[in-house]
Formats: sequence, structure tokens, C-alpha cells
Amino acid sequence: MILLVDDTPENLISLKNVLEKHGFEVDTAGSGEEALKKVLKNSYVLIILDVQMPEMDGFEVAEVISGYSKAKETAIIFLSAANTEFRFIAKGYSSGGLDYITKPVDINILLLKIKTFYRIYEQSRKLNDIQKALLEEIEFRKAAESKKDEFISIASHELKTPLTSVKGYIQLLERGLAKGDIDLVRSHLSKAQIQLEKLNGLIADLLDISKIESGKLKFNKQYFDFDQLLDGIIEVLHQSNPEFKIIKEGKVSTPIFADEMRIEQVIVNFLTNAIKYSPGTCEAKLNVRLQNKELYLGVRDYGIGMRPEQVQRVFEKFYRVEETSQRFQGLGIGLYISSEIIKRHGGQINVKSNYGEGSEFYFTIPIEPLVAEADTN
Ligand code: ADP
Repeated sequence: MILLVDDTPENLISLKNVLEKHGFEVDTAGSGEEALKKVLKNSYVLIILDVQMPEMDGFEVAEVISGYSKAKETAIIFLSAANTEFRFIAKGYSSGGLDYITKPVDINILLLKIKTFYRIYEQSRKLNDIQKALLEEIEFRKAAESKKDEFISIASHELKTPLTSVKGYIQLLERGLAKGDIDLVRSHLSKAQIQLEKLNGLIADLLDISKIESGKLKFNKQYFDFDQLLDGIIEVLHQSNPEFKIIKEGKVSTPIFADEMRIEQVIVNFLTNAIKYSPGTCEAKLNVRLQNKELYLGVRDYGIGMRPEQVQRVFEKFYRVEETSQRFQGLGIGLYISSEIIKRHGGQINVKSNYGEGSEFYFTIPIEPLVAEADTN
């Protein structure tokens, strides 16, 4: 928008009409003071200022405007009876341009100048937008970089822990062997085995992350017996956590079309989290049912639970609840991978949780092939 400032109403009206006819939006002010008020309130691309005005002349108005940060992109064209009147007023006037035109106004020259200022204004607006977007991008990348650094340090620590244990058990094994104590050897071997399984799981998760990033996470979907899968999972987890009870509620009597190993990975992740984040409790419930051609599976624990703002973020990559991250080991990627698996099955994953009372992590997936899959099967 253009602001016309002139103390002669006729001048204002005639110039306003001409400019509006050429498609410009025009505002007017009858004095320097009025102009200053308007500049503070509105944004103008250009101000056309009459130099000779009583009280505050055009140069004074321009000097004040040059101090307004709001108008730093605004250009000014002075209207003057003769160009000898011009004096240097551009102190502090940085980006917005300054120009003049003598009266009587040659409308073609004025229009030419206006168009030039509009073009400059538009270009500098675009440059500002680009600069803003670039700064945002830099901030985003910096944050991602520091998240990654933090992750690498956590991951190295997490990988080193089981590795150190395995090294320790191997030393103990040697001693046991030297003593010929076969029971001791057996016990150390099985402990080393558990640590190796942990290591294997961590590395598998890391590989999954890189497969997700590169779009190479593949699925092998087939019909399988879901109840049988659940019974197998419960049995294995019971062996490694004999003091913890997983109570299965519900049954699925039809075969499910999905990637059995990937679905197992999600359920094992839910259950191991339910055990890990529920110290001092000894049971979790596994709820399973069919609803509207969909399978519902939920794992309910009675552990530490989460606050609403944490619930919103648990499926993010690398997210771990800050206040408990020191207490419990983990990489903050299990649920991210799970959510990717469920999404790729056309399902939903979510959690209900109450801080201090426990959580129910759950997913639903269609039990039949998706339309696109049905075509290829
Ligand atoms: P990890 O357990 O390795 O940190 P996950 O992706 O499985 O990674 O979980 C992300 C975060 O969500 C955990 O660090 C924890 O803070 C929170 N969380 C997951 N499961 C539970 C649960 N059952 N109860 C409370 N908090 C949980």
C-alpha cells in the first residue's frame, strides 16, 4: 500500500485517483503527524511525501520514520517544487529507498519510480522469506545433529554394557574350565548367552532404523495363527522373567494376514517395556480381540505410567522420558520401529497412560490383506 502525505486536499485526491486507476492501493494523510501515526499502525511499501507542509515538513517526517523499525523496508519519494530544496536526510535510513520528484508531477515518471520501488520491496520480501526459511532449516539440522550425537553416545554405552558382561563371563568360563567345574561353566555360558541375545537385539534395532530411513524395511505377510504366536511369546518371556506373570485375556480364532516376525517384534517390545517400566509389580495383561475385521492387541501394565506430554512423544525416534532415562536402559527406538511396522500394516498404534498408575500400549491391524496386497496375492 502507498501512503500519500500532503497538506493540500486537492493534491491528495487527484494523485490518489490516478494511482488507484493504475491498480495501487492508496492511503492518505493530511499532515506529518497524521502520517507518523499511520506508519506506526500500518505497513506501507512506499510513502509519497510533500516536502512543504506547515509544522512538520517532509524531511522531518522522513527522519522520524527512519527511526521506526517497522518501516525499515518502506521507500520514500519526496514531492517538491524544485529539486534544489533537497538536503541529506538519509541518516539511519538503511534498506528502504529514497527518491524525489518535482512538482508539477509527471505522472509517468512517478509511476515508473513507484513500480521500481514495488519491485525492490517484493524482492527484498522474498529474500527475507528465504533467509527465514534457511535459518529455520539450520536450526532444525543443528537440533537433529545434536540428537544424533546424543543417540550415538547412548547407543555405544548400551552396546558396551552387554559386551563387557560377555567378556567377564568368558574369563569366568576359563577359570571354571581350569577347575573342571562343569556346572559353573554351564551357568556362565547361559548368562553370556543372555547378554549376547541383548546385543543381538540392539544391533537388530539399529539395523531396522537404518532400513526405515532408507525405505528398505521389507515385509513378508502371510496368514498365521495368532494365538499360537502369543502363547510362544508368553512362554519365552516367562523363561527370562520367571517372577513376572503375563495374563492373556481374549482369543483370536481366525488366521491373521501379517508379517508374523514383525508383529512378534512389536508385541515383544510392548511386553518387555511393560516389564522394564513397572518395577515392583509382577503382572501385565495381554488383551486381544477381534473388532470390525480388525485385530486389537493391548498390553496393560501397572508401572510408572507417563504424563500426557510424554504420551504424545513416545513413538518419536530416539525419544526417552527424560526423568526416567537414567533409571532404565534403552535406546528410545523400539516404539518408533513398532509404529513404523504397524503403519505399514495399515493399522494404528497408540497408548493410554496415567502417571504413576500404568499404561496400555495397543495396536489394531486389519486381519485381511489390504486392497493393494489382495491384488498381488
Ligand atoms: P526404550 O525403552 O529403549 O527407551 P522405546 O522406544 O521402547 O525405547 O520407548 C520409548 C520411551 O517410552 C521409553 O524410554 C520410556 O520412557 C517410555 N515407555 C515405553 N514403554 C513404557 C511403559 N510401558 N511405561 C512407561 N513408559 C514407557
